[in-house]
Amino acid sequence: MAEIKILIEGYAKEEDGSEFASSTTTLIRENGLNIIVDPGMNRKLLFESLKKEGLSTPDINYVILTHYHLDHSLLAGVFENAKILDDGEIYSWDGKIESHGGKVPGTAIEIIKTLGHAMFHCSVLVETEKFGKVVISGDVFWWRNGEEQKTDKESLMKHEDPYVKNKEQLMESRRKILEIADYIVPGHGKMFKIEK
Ligand SMILES: [Zn+2]
Repeated sequence: MAEIKILIEGYAKEEDGSEFASSTTTLIRENGLNIIVDPGMNRKLLFESLKKEGLSTPDINYVILTHYHLDHSLLAGVFENAKILDDGEIYSWDGKIESHGGKVPGTAIEIIKTLGHAMFHCSVLVETEKFGKVVISGDVFWWRNGEEQKTDKESLMKHEDPYVKNKEQLMESRRKILEIADYIVPGHGKMFKIEK
């Protein structure tokens, strides 16, 4: 089974008249592999949080990007040994592109398509002892700083995404995740439990 650790809690806020955003960054350890979901775009926070875990960039085997928005994906290139996964493919440093078939190689971690917030978007399903089934949802669910995080199912379905690309697909993705998850890690905001 996998272990997960939130390295960075994603934020989205206005400060001194400027917009600041970086995604939640999650570390998954399974079968001796270190996997990062959404490295974000805050270089200082990323390097500090890795150090706290006793890791440095060459220790990461896979980086999964939920989508290509730069607040989630900008730092993917700093992991010199990692292969990069998106919703369908695995990318290697020699330019090789191959299908992952919905699984992270060598693990039971699943990559599920969850369109709507962006043209290409996936979520990551991890089985853990501590939290049960955790879905790392990228921006299928996200909040701005200071916004109340209402996590009953109705509020989660209704929650506005000002950047949505396709609302119907987003609703479908939310429904799909709510059916599976015991816990959800949002793209920006705090990890939360789903009441069954
Ligand atoms: Zn985001």
